[in-house]
Amino acid sequence: MLSLVVFLALLAAAPLYTSNPYYIHMIGTIMIYAILLFGLDIVVGYTGQVSLGHAGLFGVGSYTAGVMFMKLGAPLWLIIPASVCVTAGFGALLALPALRVTGPYLAMVTLAFGTIIQILINEMTFLTEGPLGIKVPKPDLFGAKLTEHEFYWLVLALMALSLVVVDRILRSQLGRAFEALRGSPVASDCMGVSVYRYKVYAFVISAGFAGLSGCLYAYSEQYISPNTYNFELTVLFLLAVIMGGRKTRSGAMLGAAIIVILPKLLDDLEMFRQVSSVLAVLMLVGAIVAIAKKITTPRAMAIPVVGTLALAAFSFWLESITDWRLSIFGLMILFVVYYLQDGIVGFFRKLTSRKTSRGQAYQAPAHAKDAITVAASASGNESGGTLLNAQGVLMQFGGLKALNEVDLRIQRGTIHGLIGPNGSGKSTMMNVLTGIYVPTAGSIEFCGRSVVERSSADIALSGIARTFQNVQLFGEMTALQNVQVGLHHTFNSNLLDVALNTPRYQREDESAIERGMGLLNFVGLADLAGEEARNLPYGKQRLLEIARALALDPQLLLLDEPAAGLTAPDIKELIAIIRKIRDHGITVILIEHHMDVVMSVCDAVSVLDFGQKIAEGKPAEVQANEKVIEAYLGAPAA
Ligand code: ADP
Ligand code: MG
Repeated sequence: MLSLVVFLALLAAAPLYTSNPYYIHMIGTIMIYAILLFGLDIVVGYTGQVSLGHAGLFGVGSYTAGVMFMKLGAPLWLIIPASVCVTAGFGALLALPALRVTGPYLAMVTLAFGTIIQILINEMTFLTEGPLGIKVPKPDLFGAKLTEHEFYWLVLALMALSLVVVDRILRSQLGRAFEALRGSPVASDCMGVSVYRYKVYAFVISAGFAGLSGCLYAYSEQYISPNTYNFELTVLFLLAVIMGGRKTRSGAMLGAAIIVILPKLLDDLEMFRQVSSVLAVLMLVGAIVAIAKKITTPRAMAIPVVGTLALAAFSFWLESITDWRLSIFGLMILFVVYYLQDGIVGFFRKLTSRKTSRGQAYQAPAHAKDAITVAASASGNESGGTLLNAQGVLMQFGGLKALNEVDLRIQRGTIHGLIGPNGSGKSTMMNVLTGIYVPTAGSIEFCGRSVVERSSADIALSGIARTFQNVQLFGEMTALQNVQVGLHHTFNSNLLDVALNTPRYQREDESAIERGMGLLNFVGLADLAGEEARNLPYGKQRLLEIARALALDPQLLLLDEPAAGLTAPDIKELIAIIRKIRDHGITVILIEHHMDVVMSVCDAVSVLDFGQKIAEGKPAEVQANEKVIEAYLGAPAA
């Protein structure tokens, strides 16, 4: 925090110690790009989508400003919000393909989006003057035209503002939702965080920053033309995020500096020699430190170190740089992307961080009781009666009937076991109940309301929470953050609350931390709150999934083989936890292979075999049932 303030102060003082307008303009451009990259990082770093459409959005921002100035003579205070809003609207358009396709397909679609924008700017001459471009003089503010320096300070102020706002967004429930859908879309949906909605949000917010950036760029350059917003620029933006280091604001600023400065450095041979020498020394020192700290092996570092040394040697051998510029630029980028996948900031964080980051010191509440608010009792429902009623559920995959006319009736307040051999359709049943699959036929009623054809997020919010057979945590998020995603439904605050850090948001945020810690405490993970989920041992990951599911305040909790891969003492603990959950009034459906677990906790058991229900009843009855023994042993009982 302090270093950030010092850094911003240094930036603010820059015009005082250099009067060279070239440098002031360059630093200004870096800050303008940084604003765009903060936003691009939301999409790329947090939600994990690739966008090659951001140069197009940048262009929309610039041209909104240019056209409003030229056609309407609009003032700056009107043009800035207009650019942000118009571009955010285009961001929503760009988000539409992201809802249907991902990966390389999405990259292609967003690229097409950027290209179309560029073509439109070129062709809509009545509005944009086409290839001629638009002249935009420095804006007026308070009745006087801004000087170069004043404009620089305006850009700095807006960058600082963007930095604060982006940071707040990403720390809030919105940021957690973005990150969750990268970690596991299916789990996000099942935590009531609609992947669909938050992808659109991410693109819209990201586009808003691109709009601000583009608008400032128009004033900074004082002339805009369609050529600027091309393919090269969009790739450069993406590289800046990756090179600087995704999921960090300092990475975005560093990335912006690299893409602005590097091409300029490569214009000048003397400069290039100095830079490559410094780079080689840094690389050497970095490698030695990294090897000494056992972060990497000498072998892994050999090629990068030799590579940078060779680059330095090459620079002194070169006589003219002009022919080599692009190749060297390309090589450097390739190098960073290949060797520093967490970007430069990520790399240095690794070097300087201690082995693991423990959870922040937090006094967990002694009693976790209040952690689970019992939805059932809260809504005035007495125990007893049918909570879930599935009739004739058929789930067909091609010719395979994974579920064949299954009836399932779950009594409120019970633990209902669902057992059967592998492939008998147990997990499919859970997927049908949580809206991941839509059943081919049959009806499912939960609390008197049909579940069929509703979205997973909707079903989750109506009170069905679950865990997954193959653990679906948000790996890069901490244990506490994982649970907080489950608590997403407790937030009423919107983007504005988050950006302004209003009392309402603060209250909700504090209570989400408290309840999150309470839930972690409930499953015995309080002291691992700050650990990234992917670093937890397998057994703990399963417990964390349960805590996250409980955060939804469910009436019904579905556990899919929670004991799989657990050690005997862990299983004992798990049984105790499941009992406690039921005692809080939450109904449980338990899929389990460990018969001792099923027999000791279940009030009733249903048995599936080849998609059909072959038995049902009290655990002891089911255990003695001949059909069940046959199904499990694969041969008729003697
Ligand atoms: P289990 O009882 O072990 O949890 P599942 O419900 O996972 O069994 O699977 C039941 C059957 O349905 C298996 O034969 C499985 O291959 C099949 N199945 C499950 N999901 C799909 C799917 N998405 N597409 C095709 N077949 C599936
Ligand atoms: Mg299964």
